[in-house]
Amino acid sequence: MPDNKEQYFDILIAGAGFAGSLTALILHNQGFKVCVVEKGRHPRFAIGESSTPIADMQLRDIAVKYNLPWLHDFSRYGSWQQSHPEIVCGIKRGFSFFKHHPGQDFTTDANHKNELLVAASVDDIQSDTNWMRSDVDAFLVSKVQEAGISYFDLTEIVSAKRNSEWEFNCICPEGAMVIYAGFYIDATGGGFLLEKLTGVKTSSDSFLTDSFTVFSHFHGIARWTEMLKDANIPTADFPYDPDNSALHQILDEGWIWMLRFNDQRTSFGFVLSCKEQSLKGLQTAEIWDAMLAKYPAIKNILKDATLAAEPGKIIQSARLQRKVDRCFGPGWAVLPHTAGFVDPLFSSGIAHSISGIQKLVLNP
Ligand SMILES: Cc1cc2nc3c(=O)[nH]c(=O)nc-3n(C[C@H](O)[C@H](O)[C@H](O)COP(=O)(O)OP(=O)(O)OC[C@H]3O[C@@H](n4cnc5c(N)ncnc54)[C@H](O)[C@@H]3O)c2cc1C
Repeated sequence: MPDNKEQYFDILIAGAGFAGSLTALILHNQGFKVCVVEKGRHPRFAIGESSTPIADMQLRDIAVKYNLPWLHDFSRYGSWQQSHPEIVCGIKRGFSFFKHHPGQDFTTDANHKNELLVAASVDDIQSDTNWMRSDVDAFLVSKVQEAGISYFDLTEIVSAKRNSEWEFNCICPEGAMVIYAGFYIDATGGGFLLEKLTGVKTSSDSFLTDSFTVFSHFHGIARWTEMLKDANIPTADFPYDPDNSALHQILDEGWIWMLRFNDQRTSFGFVLSCKEQSLKGLQTAEIWDAMLAKYPAIKNILKDATLAAEPGKIIQSARLQRKVDRCFGPGWAVLPHTAGFVDPLFSSGIAHSISGIQKLVLNP
């Protein structure tokens, strides 16, 4: 152990997304001396927002198992609103799908052709939620700090070596800093740091799925249910209002997610096939415009929409599919969002992350 015991930790967690922070809180409660290193500063924009019944069940589970009782409130819309109305979220009653055809307005029939609504909760109180990740992640970091866990933000791990323990060379706002730790958990949500520190590579080669996304947060996105009503499309027998769900518009080239929040912001993004010839060589704004030109009903949804301050622009991702060659090694392990990603359809990310955390920490 180095002389400077202040900078020695049992476990260093890189990345303070919700998963890194939850891991830190659990390990701290289990008696480990933990630190969290975040390259950015909260609140910061993040994608990955809709929870599911499994994710919420897991939240309730870890709230009890790892002595984080306040976490329980975030597992249902009703208790979230009662305990933390200031942390923005939205109601998510289920998964809704509407199929569009290029060049045509949305159409259906008395049997709800082109529509699929999958209810996941009985009412709004019991409902799953769309998380405003910037708010949720910032709140969890405040819990990390409240617990007395060492938290270094705006800090970059430049290099590291490991003999019996890790020695991390970091750059923080005050200058260079060395952190020593027995174990390293990568919660950065990508493979860059892992490769830099361990040489373990991330690749996309073995995936059949080949997609990318263009997305942002908006104000003023029209309510889909109102648009259906305006077009005299029956909605009275819907099990819930599709705007209060993870609303998916299905296209020939991929699909759109629409996740509405209480404060009138909406997360909206296209997931598109990288193989789509009509989009090859286009810039982000051109892809956006090309998709709206093809689908009149989608263009109409966005008619009065303006970009929200954060992120304030339309973002285009690289290919989404990736996985690391190894998930753990001597003195290190990764959380699921670092380990890999396939596709956001069905919103499995939050649940994957929580189950990964449970595999990594001590079982009570
Ligand atoms: C387009 C898209 C849509 C998605 N939609 C959903 C959804 O609806 N529901 C769902 O459950 N999941 C969804 N996901 C998956 C979801 O985003 C992830 O499961 C979730 O973000 C994982 O959280 P995390 O805390 O592990 O990682 P992240 O949210 O990626 O957080 C990583 C943190 O690490 C920090 N960091 C990065 N690099 C470094 C570094 N070198 N050093 C220090 N810190 C670093 C970042 O600043 C960030 O704060 C979606 C994913 C994508 C790509």
